[in-house]
Amino acid sequence: MKNFKDISYLQMAYSLAEKAKGWASPNPYVGAVIVKRGIIVGYGYHEKPGKPHAELVALQMAGPLSRSSSAFITLEPCVHWGRTPPCVESLIQVRPKRVVISALDPNPLVFKKGVKRLRQAGIQVSSGLLEEKNKYLNEIYLKYITKKLPFVAAKTAISLDGKIATKKFDSRWISSRQTREYVHLLRGEYDAIMVGISTLIKDDPFLTVRHRNWKGKKTTRIILDSRLRFPLNARIISTLSQGKIMIFTLKKASRKKAEALTKKGVDVVFLPRSSSKVDLQEVLAWLGRNEIASVLVEGGSLLLTSMFEQKLVDKIFLTISPKLIGGREAPSILQGDGADCIKDSLVLKRINSFQIDEDIIIEGYF
Ligand SMILES: [Zn+2]
Repeated sequence: MKNFKDISYLQMAYSLAEKAKGWASPNPYVGAVIVKRGIIVGYGYHEKPGKPHAELVALQMAGPLSRSSSAFITLEPCVHWGRTPPCVESLIQVRPKRVVISALDPNPLVFKKGVKRLRQAGIQVSSGLLEEKNKYLNEIYLKYITKKLPFVAAKTAISLDGKIATKKFDSRWISSRQTREYVHLLRGEYDAIMVGISTLIKDDPFLTVRHRNWKGKKTTRIILDSRLRFPLNARIISTLSQGKIMIFTLKKASRKKAEALTKKGVDVVFLPRSSSKVDLQEVLAWLGRNEIASVLVEGGSLLLTSMFEQKLVDKIFLTISPKLIGGREAPSILQGDGADCIKDSLVLKRINSFQIDEDIIIEGYF
């Protein structure tokens, strides 16, 4: 019975944590509930970096009622000084009777240390209940904090015959209006959106998050552009208030063009290594170092192909639209050499599919 109650309080804490999705990055999404004699006396979640952590918000709401309470937290409380002081110390100060933690924090600075510190202070601690939920909710954080690399999701729409455009490169629109709205909802969950320069030149997109759920959300736009072909009159430049625009280019690219772009407010990053193409692994490492915890790659097919070939994609959102495009010259989702044998193909795991209007959306992991 006690376990059943613990589960429902943790579930409540998870619903709170969900509210942080897309906002708290690069921090994890965490929720907390404080219960005293069967009554919820405090609850909260971590809104965004610099704001108090979930357990602190909940403890503050509970005030003196925190003493001898049960605290339910979706993630192990931190033990280190980050942008805010360590939460274990705040917990120890108010002395709850029991702390129920769903998942341990994968951050090596915290992992198991939070639990240990609480136990040392004589507080009863349990962990592991509903921890699977955390792996899914915090999939971005899990990769970012352990590998210092952003979580990479790829998003694209194809026809029934696997084409992303016609032979004349027309791709507007393969998916339905409702699906495209869903994509805007999805964009908000990521720190950055990435496209190749050809897509930017061809489509002249804004790459902004246009969805009522994400009002005020800033998303970084990343363009990979080895020769700095980025047009100075690209429409995206008018959207700088909705997030940074970063162009990754090579050492040999024109400094004069870079200067002109910088003047317009665009960030230009010169990658130190010299090669003929922008090195994707180098870009991802740079983003990880600069607290970009997640990237949504939206194309085009050359960028997606390189991403898949180098096995850099963690998750895919694939829209299959009930259209047959045909044509040998019409590009398909993947170019490149491709696999020799079926057994060499990339295989999606943990697949989830659903329908929006007449489109089928497939989500899966690599
Ligand atoms: Zn904390």
